[in-house]
Amino acid sequence: MTEQTEGGQVEIPEAVALPSDATISSSKAAEIRGRRQYPLPKLAVPDAPLLEVKDLKTHFRLRDGWVKAVDGVSFGLADGEALGLAGESACGKTTTALSLMQLLPSNGQIRGGSIELFGIDLAQKSEKALQRYRWREISMVFQGAMNAFNPVIRVRDQIAEPLQYRLGQSEATARARAVELLDMVGIPRRRAGAYPHELSGGMRQRAMIAMALACDPAIIIGDEPTTALDVMVQAQILELLEGLRRELGLSLILITHDLSVLAETCDRVLVMYAGRVAEEGPVSRVFKAPRHPYTRKLVNSFPNLHADKRTLDVIQGQPPDLLDPPPGCRFAPRCEFAMPVCTEVVPPEVRFADGVRVACHLFPTSDPEVVATPTTPPTTPTKPKPGSSPGPAASPAPPG
Ligand code: SF4
Repeated sequence: MTEQTEGGQVEIPEAVALPSDATISSSKAAEIRGRRQYPLPKLAVPDAPLLEVKDLKTHFRLRDGWVKAVDGVSFGLADGEALGLAGESACGKTTTALSLMQLLPSNGQIRGGSIELFGIDLAQKSEKALQRYRWREISMVFQGAMNAFNPVIRVRDQIAEPLQYRLGQSEATARARAVELLDMVGIPRRRAGAYPHELSGGMRQRAMIAMALACDPAIIIGDEPTTALDVMVQAQILELLEGLRRELGLSLILITHDLSVLAETCDRVLVMYAGRVAEEGPVSRVFKAPRHPYTRKLVNSFPNLHADKRTLDVIQGQPPDLLDPPPGCRFAPRCEFAMPVCTEVVPPEVRFADGVRVACHLFPTSDPEVVATPTTPPTTPTKPKPGSSPGPAASPAPPG
């Protein structure tokens, strides 16, 4: 199947069926919220979506200026849903996740946008007010559990800490709950008193998951939670996360370079490039019929058992310097379909009937299949060349 765009004909593979749980119904959301151990935050807006991130801008201050690591990113997360963040290193995945918990390095700052959790804008909260939400509503499983745990404190006591400080439980109650949580993730009770170095890599990662679960959060962020593990343990950890998500009604944001992990675990995927959203939508749709040229390259650069391919695609070139990103589309210097308009005008985001959102001039807002323009285009100033007019001037060859 092909689609006619202002930029020419673009091949779009046939539509595939969406997973049945791609959309989380409001009754399922109510059921999940009804299972909470602790009440919703007092300021929660009834029936507000679980998480809505709008036009988030997180920048890092350097001596020479601001690095625009996340620059106008918007997405949502429903109760019980799993969202994967994909993209090459330094595309802004982890910065987006750290912004949600505001665990940014000292030179990082949220300089625009909102992070609404149950309708409460966390971006506006003070450090003190955020303590109500960190670990209690959003928690994180960090990459490399050995670095995340304190090596001189027993694992059980580290898991009990958020229960004592965030929920006010007594030391004895918190420790007993910590042992229960360790049991839940498959660590025998007799190992609860171990120090981190006395556990294997897989067990430490399980213990990290137990710590993330301690306060019964609504959202767990997994930042490359299986990267340092061998494939067998990786599969066990992913199975554990998936089981807990379904059983406890958790919502999951999973960051990984491994597209197969996202395909197996997530309902939706958000592909980022150079601090912005390239494409977002149901996993099955985005991976089987990617629209954005960057997503296509990313998918084609990943080994596929079912494809008769001996050589993988390579994405030539390097991501741009985010201290001074190029105007227009940030992928333009590496994109084989770049048109004059791409280097001058930031592509607006458009949404299709199958739930996929794309930011690319190959899919202009005038495309008959576009059903919505969900967000205003990012406001990074563009630098039009003198005498040039924005608008497609060349017909690109079809991607893929
Ligand atoms: Fe390529 Fe232009 Fe689309 Fe950017 S906007 S991905 S440069 S075609």
